[in-house]
Amino acid sequence: MSDFHEETIIQLVDRHSQAAMLGDSDAAQASLHEARELDPATLEIELAKRAFLSELGTPEEISERRQRVVARLGGVAVAAPDRIEAWRLLAEMLGRLHNYEGVLRATASGLKREPNHVALWVMRSTAQIELQQFDSAARSLRHCVKIAPTNNQVESLVRHHPACRACYSLFPSVEAKECTMCGALGPGAGGKVASVRMRSHSKFDLYFPRVRQVVADALQMPARIVNLMTLDTLLKRHFKRTNQQCALVLRAMSREFGASFDAELFRSAVVGYLDLLIADLIRAIKAEDGVIEETDTGIRVPVKRKPSSA
Ligand SMILES: [Zn+2]
Repeated sequence: MSDFHEETIIQLVDRHSQAAMLGDSDAAQASLHEARELDPATLEIELAKRAFLSELGTPEEISERRQRVVARLGGVAVAAPDRIEAWRLLAEMLGRLHNYEGVLRATASGLKREPNHVALWVMRSTAQIELQQFDSAARSLRHCVKIAPTNNQVESLVRHHPACRACYSLFPSVEAKECTMCGALGPGAGGKVASVRMRSHSKFDLYFPRVRQVVADALQMPARIVNLMTLDTLLKRHFKRTNQQCALVLRAMSREFGASFDAELFRSAVVGYLDLLIADLIRAIKAEDGVIEETDTGIRVPVKRKPSSA
């Protein structure tokens, strides 16, 4: 996609380190010079990554070095503001230094250029949570859910930070006793919560993670395959699954969703005869908005009753 000579520059920086280690400073400088000619911003980004990770020196020295790296990378980002990777890396480093105000500034600058950059939104949401800006965090997380409903980090944030039913701010955790923003009862004190997903989500986005899990479990898929699954995945065509395996998935869906999964409705879908489309599985789940349950861990859609639920 982007051609900023990343691979060549990584090799040149490797060569630079090796030459420097061998005491050949001419060769070391030559490699750096060559890299700088190719793309100075990429070189700076690569050098920053390595310097930030370096564990050489005392804790004070490491800390000072990281501060210097961040300051320099900040300059690079400002000078080449369209290089999203510079903003992303900067935000990530600032987060690791617990400079969350800095994360907000870096992500804002990056998002100005690339408004739907998922990693930037995730870091922004996290920083807002750290800064206890739970209302802004809720807005950011809703945006995350909208642009990347099945992203692992987004799923994890949604799970760990339910929203307040009164003001829709996020709770700091599922154990929170009250809402920081409005004082409403929190999940840790038995208060009911809303899900961030609820406010911006279609049935497909809502059910997809769970249906994906059902399919993955039924077919014992390795994680790397599971991650390739989308609403448009056809099990036979794309994943080379047999009729028998598709039948297995249908049975697993009925087990998971009980009467809410309308197997007949599913079979009546044209594609259902020929192949198994993930979106069709979800289409066949009956759920009126009113019966969607919310729990302390996020969204629950209607299922068989849990035997132990009080
Ligand atoms: Zn509240």
